[in-house]
Amino acid sequence: MAKRSSDLSVPAVTVLLVKQVVKVRVLPVGLEAVALDATLRACNNAASWLSAQMHADGVLRKHDAQKRFYPELRQRFGLSAQPAVRVIGKVADAYTTLRANAAAGNYGPPGSRRRITVLAKPIVFRDDAAQPFDARCLSWQMPNVFGDREATVSIWTMHGRLRKIRILAAPGDLALLGTRKIGESDLVQRDGKWFLYATVNVPEAPLTEPVNGFVGVDLGIVNIATTSDGDRAAGACLNRYRKRQARLRKRLQAKKTSSARRLLRKRRRKERRFATDVNHYVSKRIVAEAERTGRGIAVEQLGGIRDRVRLRKPQRATLHSWAFAQLGGFLAYKAQAAGVAFVKVDPAHTSQTCSACGWVDKRNRRSQSVFECVRCDFVGHADHNAANNIAERGVVRWGEVMRPHAAPTLTAS
Ligand SMILES: [Zn+2]
Repeated sequence: MAKRSSDLSVPAVTVLLVKQVVKVRVLPVGLEAVALDATLRACNNAASWLSAQMHADGVLRKHDAQKRFYPELRQRFGLSAQPAVRVIGKVADAYTTLRANAAAGNYGPPGSRRRITVLAKPIVFRDDAAQPFDARCLSWQMPNVFGDREATVSIWTMHGRLRKIRILAAPGDLALLGTRKIGESDLVQRDGKWFLYATVNVPEAPLTEPVNGFVGVDLGIVNIATTSDGDRAAGACLNRYRKRQARLRKRLQAKKTSSARRLLRKRRRKERRFATDVNHYVSKRIVAEAERTGRGIAVEQLGGIRDRVRLRKPQRATLHSWAFAQLGGFLAYKAQAAGVAFVKVDPAHTSQTCSACGWVDKRNRRSQSVFECVRCDFVGHADHNAANNIAERGVVRWGEVMRPHAAPTLTAS
């Protein structure tokens, strides 16, 4: 998931870099906040307008959209050159993601009503959706070695450039921002507070050989992640939260007023943020454990939602499939940043195979949670059993990745 790029300024050695996202609180005062607010709204109004044009004309690629709509976009919404380019990029990226999701079956099979509905409508951007800023519209001033300068940013707005707005971040994050090249940053407003999510390139830790095998991770719905060590602590808390949210949602859905709808939207966003926080926590913990014990991490190669996950409510499917993909992505990039080996394995029959004797049988899986081998009497938690199989396949896969010529059957992940 994390993008790799080689550092060209050092031709002798190739340094691999991974992107890390740093969250920074922005503290505008008085009219500065008004200017930021107007800017975010204008950029998102522009994005929604552009999205409708691109959708209507079937022009979904960045380059083509820029050629066709750039002058009108600037003129209509009073955007400077660079913000206009960023808006075009944002809309084109959103359509790329939408198409990728559709191709992965996340909106249901071709011809399904949900998929048709999703693809028939242009993407609409919320007034306060995140807006990317690059070095030409946003500059950073970091404290000097004596610490006698505050950390600030200068940022382009509809009402001119705002200079030296104070920022707050964790000391470690400030140090990262002060010593690394900062890439694109997203401006976000949340509950009246302003944030920048800055992308920083950090050198990738050298890959550690997984001398003690692999931690297998089974991603699921009841337990969002079960490891081959039997760790599945985080699932319960997330599911409790989801159930509570679902109850609240039901109550709100019963009322068909506009304020209830607004609250619902707010709640859905909150739910996503919560899932993101949980995914960060879970992935961090798994990577730390693999690193500590000299192991790699193995997950299943998943295309869309797998067959053993049966979902009824489309809304729930959206959050889950999205959360699934996100957790896989977090695991991949955190492992990479820590130098932990990461592989994706063939998912076939991981839930029906006995991790003790290798016997494959549908009847092995007694229920959602219970695995009981019909051949060797092994009994265990179903997800834990699956995670064990994934761990074992990880070792095999790693051998194949390291000797690519010996493994013509699978492509390297
Ligand atoms: Zn068995």
